[in-house]
Amino acid sequence: MSRHAPYLREMGLVRWRYSAPAPGEHGSAAAGSAAAAGIQPQGARKDLARLADEVARCERCDLHSVRRNVVFGAGDARARWLFVGEAPGAEEDKQGLPFVGRAGSLLNAILFSIGLSRDEVYIANVLKCRPPNNRDPFGREVQECSPYLQQQISLAQPEIIVAMGRFAAQALLETDQSLAQLRGRVHQYKIDQLPLVVTYHPAYLLRSPSAKGKSWEDLRLACSVMS
Ligand code: SF4
Repeated sequence: MSRHAPYLREMGLVRWRYSAPAPGEHGSAAAGSAAAAGIQPQGARKDLARLADEVARCERCDLHSVRRNVVFGAGDARARWLFVGEAPGAEEDKQGLPFVGRAGSLLNAILFSIGLSRDEVYIANVLKCRPPNNRDPFGREVQECSPYLQQQISLAQPEIIVAMGRFAAQALLETDQSLAQLRGRVHQYKIDQLPLVVTYHPAYLLRSPSAKGKSWEDLRLACSVMS
């Protein structure tokens, strides 16, 4: 039985099997990519830390007044893969970390199904502060906060971006096309010319498990870019 089987089962994807590269195979390529971009890994980490300090003090939009914590991002600044979600939820706001709770557990399973762990990717949201009652982000909030994500991407220099959910996809691609229109092809993130694949947000998959098969197709598309 594949070591990924339990995770694929948790995703509801017992039919699928994917042979991803071993996690250790990613390290040298990531370092090479950062070096090629002129960003030494330690420098990228330091600059991301500086940016995180700046975001922690941000009051650009009204969400600063209702947040408990800014949720900047988490993971390996040298990672080849960047996963981007929408905004912190209640638990993320409480802990100051992205993708914790049930959606976070499903994201862990999704990552493991393609041979990755949380430590081997970088995870961020479009909005760094929680919208009250988990409402949809307002356009002006996305507009004010997006420059932070753009800087994160430029500093981290991943090799692929996976946009999870409509808001992340629309914000990164600067489009109003639907998720259905954006899935199923490889886009280019125009600021850094990085490949970008669109998929469902794990919170949506928890509500709509029947979409997990399509999510797996998206991940296989992303893996084909990285192979
Ligand atoms: S959501 Fe973004 S722009 Fe708004 S206060 Fe938080 S960090 Fe600043």
